[in-house]
Amino acid sequence: MPFPAVIVSVRDGIGMNGARGEAIPIHLPVARGTTMERDSVCVIGAGPYGLTAAAYLRAAGLDVRVFGETMSFWKAMPTGMLLRSTREGITLHDPQLKVGLVDYERACGVELATPVARADYLAYVDWYQRQAVPAIDTRRVVRLDRFEERFRMQLDDGELVDTPGS
Ligand SMILES: Cc1cc2nc3c(=O)[nH]c(=O)nc-3n(C[C@H](O)[C@H](O)[C@H](O)COP(=O)(O)OP(=O)(O)OC[C@H]3O[C@@H](n4cnc5c(N)ncnc54)[C@H](O)[C@@H]3O)c2cc1C
Repeated sequence: MPFPAVIVSVRDGIGMNGARGEAIPIHLPVARGTTMERDSVCVIGAGPYGLTAAAYLRAAGLDVRVFGETMSFWKAMPTGMLLRSTREGITLHDPQLKVGLVDYERACGVELATPVARADYLAYVDWYQRQAVPAIDTRRVVRLDRFEERFRMQLDDGELVDTPGS
């Protein structure tokens, strides 16, 4: 794998240069922080796709760090909103765990009405996250820089997280 880090679900422009693979001539300041292990992956954003990517990467044996509050984009949507997607369309997966919508309903003794309400979907994804991606670092990534073959993230409390070079 060319980079020991995969960055997905990035909004607000953060990380777009890294995602396009452009070399960005920046100066990395010397600062205290942590360096991730070579077989670790960082996922920025704990939405449905970021969580699912993390679940599959975990199942592949990688050490995955997910940053951001779970479903924060969805939590800001209108309270009474009903989803347009079908039940199959909102079912999240894991290659090893039974964490589909049906499994959630069975485990929690609930039956979701159709169309599925946003609040019900949030409860399901929260359950999914606890099963498939139990550890979430809720801090936001406020800056992402790329320097040659390394990424450096700055978290909202100032901590710096580096990916190792090749
Ligand atoms: C009104 C509305 C209704 C929708 N209805 C449906 C529907 O019925 N069915 C459907 O399938 N899709 C629907 N969508 C689309 C749905 O929102 C996306 O398909 C889905 O959320 C994409 O998942 P994602 O994980 O890629 O991104 P997101 O859900 O956007 O998750 C990305 C997460 O990353 C976080 N994040 C961003 N930047 C950072 C950072 N720097 N550090 C840490 N965290 C960060 C965000 O806060 C967010 O929580 C709807 C969208 C809208 C706006």
